[in-house]
This record gives sequence, structure tokens and C-alpha cells, in this order.
Amino acid sequence: MARPALGSIGTKEADAAKLERHWDLTADVVVVGSGAAGLPASISAAEAGASVIVVEQNYDIGGHGIESGGNIALGGGTSLQKKYGIEDSPNRMFEDLVNWHDYRFSDREIVRAFCDESVATFDFLVRTACNSPINLPGGRGRWPAEREAGANRHLDGEVSAYSPTGGNGTALMRPLEASAKKLGVQILLRHSMTGLVREEQFSGRVLGITATHDGKALNIQAKKGSDSKHGRTH
Ligand SMILES: Cc1cc2nc3c(=O)[nH]c(=O)nc-3n(C[C@H](O)[C@H](O)[C@H](O)COP(=O)(O)OP(=O)(O)OC[C@H]3O[C@@H](n4cnc5c(N)ncnc54)[C@H](O)[C@@H]3O)c2cc1C
Repeated sequence: MARPALGSIGTKEADAAKLERHWDLTADVVVVGSGAAGLPASISAAEAGASVIVVEQNYDIGGHGIESGGNIALGGGTSLQKKYGIEDSPNRMFEDLVNWHDYRFSDREIVRAFCDESVATFDFLVRTACNSPINLPGGRGRWPAEREAGANRHLDGEVSAYSPTGGNGTALMRPLEASAKKLGVQILLRHSMTGLVREEQFSGRVLGITATHDGKALNIQAKKGSDSKHGRTH
């Protein structure tokens, strides 16, 4: 018989369920979604030594990431930019992005974080999705700085010489999938998250998730689930 979804039942039932909480699957970290955010998150967690389950509702990995153009608009001083003498920094990238095209409507704090983490993200992708900057699909970096440096022609040459799929999202997401699997990440396809299981009904640390697969309810434990108030993992 299908078990109730622990995150979605009344207080009395939740108290009773706590005593007999049953986990069908257990990992340190559970990642929901195998898209452009989920797969890198699963790789980072696995690299930090966690056991990881990725729950994906679709029949394949990738989300919108796999159907995207796969252009990696990173900059701020990446190794690829340096190779072509393109001068860039997180501050300059931020100034460009908040004054450029429709990017200027983006949330400033997110743009700031995007710029500050851009080089680290580029290096992460080179390490986990490709072997070298040349192999970074669509890895032409940040367009305004590069256009200014007249470098797009060279970078396009490198990129198209590499990418078997024309540098689209498949060329990014399939290597990320392979890296995740190599690190032991378990990817559960056609599994939909239906709720969070927390210490209390609506508060406290996240203990796991409820999901469905082939019409059956599952409880999946995340042993190092975060404290929702502070976003810390345990
Ligand atoms: C046509 C197109 C072209 C694009 N081109 C580019 C580009 O060139 N460069 C660029 O930087 N960006 C591009 N983007 C944007 C980019 O694809 C997205 O910003 C990115 O994929 C978002 O990543 P994400 O992980 O947040 O979401 P997604 O990649 O959509 O992943 C979310 C995943 O979560 C799964 N999921 C959702 N709910 C549940 C649930 N309840 N249980 C289990 N799984 C669930 C979904 O099935 C999906 O796999 C493009 C987007 C599109 C649509």
C-alpha cells in the first residue's frame, strides 16, 4: 500500500508518522531536477564527499539546459579570455551586464553573484563538463568584452572545431551527466518530487522529500538536508 506523503498530512498524523517514519531511499543530499542547476549541484556535493540522489521527473536528464543554446556567457577573467588577451574582471563584467541589453533588468544581487562566481564556474565546467577551455561548448565567454577585443572570430573557430553537436545544450549536459555518474551520483528518472519532509510540518530542517514514481509514493531521506532558515547543510 502506498505510504502517505509525510510533508502533506495533518499535525496529529504527522506526529504519529514521525514515530514510524520510513525511508525508501537514503542519501546525504537529494537534488531535485537534473537541469543546468541540478547536475552541477549534484557534482559539487559528490566532490565534497556526500552520497547524492538526483530526482528527475522527466524520462531523461537535462531540463531546459539540454535544449538550450549551450552558450556559456561567463567572463570576469576566465582562462579562455586571458588566452585571447581579453581584459575582464568581475567588476567590469557587473558594470557591463547591468548596463547592457535586457540584462539590465535582472536582479542586481544575482548579477553580482553571477559575476563574482563566473571564473570559478567556468573552471568548474572545464573540469567537469569538458577537458579544456577549448572544449567548453559555446564557451565564448562574455560577449561585450570580447566583441570589443575583436575576439569572437577566434573563439568561434575554437568552439565549432570542438563541439560535435554544434555547441548546444546537449554538449554541456551530457558531459555533466557523465561526470555526475562517475562520482557515484544516483539519477532517478521519472521520479517527481511532491513535497518536502521537515522536522515539523512547516518548519525545521529538511529531512527528505516525498516523490512519486509509476504511481507509487516514495520517501527519500536527505541526511544532510539544509536548515531552511539559514540554508546550512548538516
Ligand atoms: C530554447 C532555450 C535556449 C536557451 N539558451 C541558453 C543559452 O544559450 N545560454 C544560457 O546560459 N541559457 C540558455 N537558456 C536558459 C537555460 O537553459 C536555463 O536558464 C537553465 O536551463 C535553467 O536551469 P535550471 O536547472 O534552473 O532549470 P532546468 O534546466 O529547466 O532544470 C529543471 C529540472 O527540474 C526538473 N523538475 C522540475 N520539477 C520537478 C519535480 N517536482 N520533481 C523532479 N524533477 C523536477 C525538470 O524536469 C528539469 O529537468 C535557454 C533556454 C531555452 C528554453
